[in-house]
Amino acid sequence: MLIEKDIVILGGGIAGLWLLNRLRSAGFAAVLLETSTLGDGQTIASQGMIHGGLKYALGGTLTGASEAIADMPLHWQRCLQGRGDVDLRGTRLLSDTYYMWPRSNVRSRLTAYLGSKLVSSKTSEVSGESVPEFFKGHLQGPLYRLHDIVLDVPSLLHTLGEHCRPHIYRTHCSIDHDAQGNIRTLTLDNGCQLKARIYLCAAGTGNEVWLNVLKPPTVAMQKRPLQMVVVKHRNPHPLYVHCLADQFSSTPELTITTHPCQDGSIAWYLGGELAEAGATIDAATQIQRTRNKLAELFPWCDFSGARFHSFYIDRAEARQPDGKRPDRDSVIVDGNVLYCWPTKLTLAPALANAVIEKIAALGITASEGNDSPLTGLPYPGVALPVWDTL
Ligand SMILES: Cc1cc2nc3c(=O)[nH]c(=O)nc-3n(C[C@H](O)[C@H](O)[C@H](O)COP(=O)(O)OP(=O)(O)OC[C@H]3O[C@@H](n4cnc5c(N)ncnc54)[C@H](O)[C@@H]3O)c2cc1C
Repeated sequence: MLIEKDIVILGGGIAGLWLLNRLRSAGFAAVLLETSTLGDGQTIASQGMIHGGLKYALGGTLTGASEAIADMPLHWQRCLQGRGDVDLRGTRLLSDTYYMWPRSNVRSRLTAYLGSKLVSSKTSEVSGESVPEFFKGHLQGPLYRLHDIVLDVPSLLHTLGEHCRPHIYRTHCSIDHDAQGNIRTLTLDNGCQLKARIYLCAAGTGNEVWLNVLKPPTVAMQKRPLQMVVVKHRNPHPLYVHCLADQFSSTPELTITTHPCQDGSIAWYLGGELAEAGATIDAATQIQRTRNKLAELFPWCDFSGARFHSFYIDRAEARQPDGKRPDRDSVIVDGNVLYCWPTKLTLAPALANAVIEKIAALGITASEGNDSPLTGLPYPGVALPVWDTL
């Protein structure tokens, strides 16, 4: 049986789900195909930080990356309140604040920088009662508050998925395509053939599969590896902080978020320079480095009963000439396929705007076509976060 839709989205991470929500609200007959569970890749592994890019500006000037991302926390907050382009009511907010904690040797430079007109409205120094419990009595030097937020990613995926549940399917698909890399049809696990006017490849590292088959001449992907660390312990005070080391760079030495686990324990999730530098070393060395770093930064904290885990994961982005992080989200059109990488969770709304603009430029409008759900394919469900599976 051949079923026709306006748009097929391949991949159910933040990019695919945000796109599906936007496109269906705009009246398109759009469906999403996912091979595994929703978010099973970078999104469920992300730290859930929705940030305004201040950390990218730490080099001293506002870069392209920090400008592109600056309005995003406000955008997401409107969505969380049900006043945005996607309704995120029901998504759990883990923290409405993120902190930045400089080591003594960068304090004076950072204080001067944060006081400058460029960024002064984006931060404030916290003192007295406003100091988070974790740091009380232990702070030497300033702690800054950023207007960034941290979301519980499983609940974000759940919210986005539920809005469009009848149009999200777990299936593999085989592709029929022409010599120019245009998709003709997809054959799904239920035997149906699916034909769309536009196909959006939003499968993170999985976009490589489509690139290898369709061979678009001007599209390529890069992967930047990490070894993230999870520390499960019973310290009751949540911590959301960038620890800035002696070098003044856009990657903090440690980026910490706190997540509640299904077994009642608390997980600190550690990224930043620790995870970037850890990508090329073995797990035992990474865990020893983490233990040393935590003992050095937080000597008042007892980690004796803590459990440490680490895992490797790649960030997937549109390829850059220098291999560095792209300044913003990427959408590249090749025939009837749009290749999409948000670059950051934070930038998913910007990615969706860019896709909608490109679809309009291609002259594709919502049709009165067949919008009834497909049959015989299950809903994929939401991926489990790493701290509940390690
Ligand atoms: C460790 C880590 C921490 C991060 N922390 C943050 C953060 O705090 N804040 C921030 O803004 N950004 C963060 N990021 C970046 C952010 O997570 C990613 O940019 C974003 O999640 C990418 O989303 P995506 O939907 O493109 O890809 P993914 O989340 O990887 O989703 C791809 C989906 O496609 C599916 N799929 C794969 N192959 C196929 C196929 N062939 N067909 C159909 N479906 C397929 C997968 O199962 C998956 O569900 C982090 C990234 C990492 C790796």
